[in-house]
Amino acid sequence: MWAGLFFGMMLTCAAAQSASAADCPGHPDAIGTSRTLVVDPREHPIIGTMQYAKTLPLRDHEVVLTFDDGPLPKYSYQILDILASQCVKATFFLVGRQANANPEGVRKVRDAGHTVATHTQNHPSNMNRLPIDRAQKEIEDGIASVTAALGDGTAPAPFFRIPGLGRSDAIEEYTESKGIQIWSADFPADDWRHVSSQRVYDLAIQRLEAKGKGILLLHDIQPRTVAALPRILRELKARGYRIVHVVPATPERPATPTEPQQWQLNPASEMVATSRWPKIPNFVYAGNTALLAPALSDFDWQDTAPKGRTQRRTWRDAQWSRQVTLVLDHPSLPVPAASVFELPESVRVTMLYTPPSARPVERTAQGPREDAREIETPAKPVPVRAGKSRRQIRAAAIRHPASAKHAAHQPAHAGKTDKGAAKHAAQAKQIKKNAVRVAGLKKR
Ligand SMILES: [Zn+2]
Repeated sequence: MWAGLFFGMMLTCAAAQSASAADCPGHPDAIGTSRTLVVDPREHPIIGTMQYAKTLPLRDHEVVLTFDDGPLPKYSYQILDILASQCVKATFFLVGRQANANPEGVRKVRDAGHTVATHTQNHPSNMNRLPIDRAQKEIEDGIASVTAALGDGTAPAPFFRIPGLGRSDAIEEYTESKGIQIWSADFPADDWRHVSSQRVYDLAIQRLEAKGKGILLLHDIQPRTVAALPRILRELKARGYRIVHVVPATPERPATPTEPQQWQLNPASEMVATSRWPKIPNFVYAGNTALLAPALSDFDWQDTAPKGRTQRRTWRDAQWSRQVTLVLDHPSLPVPAASVFELPESVRVTMLYTPPSARPVERTAQGPREDAREIETPAKPVPVRAGKSRRQIRAAAIRHPASAKHAAHQPAHAGKTDKGAAKHAAQAKQIKKNAVRVAGLKKR
């Protein structure tokens, strides 16, 4: 019933809630806040492309600023001053314990017109591993502490950011059941790390430019953020970005009308920070396109070999050089969609790097035989990343049975079979050893 009432209000109150870029008295160069976006947590319980498929329905060049971990007067108040001087409204994810220590800071955030949201009571770094009842208590205590600090009977916005973005299904189910919206982010600026304020500025601008819009994750308790923020805001304005203020929907203030696709994940980009691992591709075949398959008759040549040695050689040369007929009406091979091969470049995967110490003998002009030998070289237990080791193992594993068979069928090698078997046993042992290493790496 609530939803129906809400929908009705949404239709009747569809007037644009955007305000023109606020005039900022005394600050003619301020970027201002271009509009207020009202969102309904019940309709979109989880947002932020660093972790989820959905994010705020922002237009191109729109930015939402968020600040975590405050209030800490020493720095939070400077952040508030900077935002005020630019007439920018942001969202603050406050920590309950900080609110208890600095209730005045919570009220300052509210009185400046920012959105007051929460970030647990004690900021545990292992939220996803806490028993769910303890995680719930962290969430609820954080809300209670901030509510107490507000002191006017109002509650913080039902927006919640998990410390360290340590999500879990149980936490998400709980917050959704409570009508609380989990805010991940679209990009951080790494301002909690020991980096320079220049680095914070660079990352904020680069990652935003790569995505074109989104939720920026910052921390109002960090001096480097205080130092970087004025430049970030100036640069945002210079590059034509607009600041959007987000507030929760209430019965009196309905959500800004949006289309479902506006909440969908943006196209991936190399500069977009992500904490999602690449998924195994879902093989979707592209339309009706098919690769030409060789005619079955092209495989059917063994029985027709002539008996004489010379004729056989001539015949064999002819077989190798002949053109294979490719046809479409035979069993055709579907073409994988191009997207199957896409790998977000932001994901750190070392694919083909071989440390100099592990490199086999330089290739010579001897051609394919040298290549084959290279692949058969047992993989050394080199401390490289999993991608590399796995590749070596697979290459060796594929080659192994073939070369064993080869040795058995070559009279010239007959006397070396024992030696060959020993070599292969050693290789197999080495492969097994490497496999263990890989498993160990994967576990971490
Ligand atoms: Zn935090």
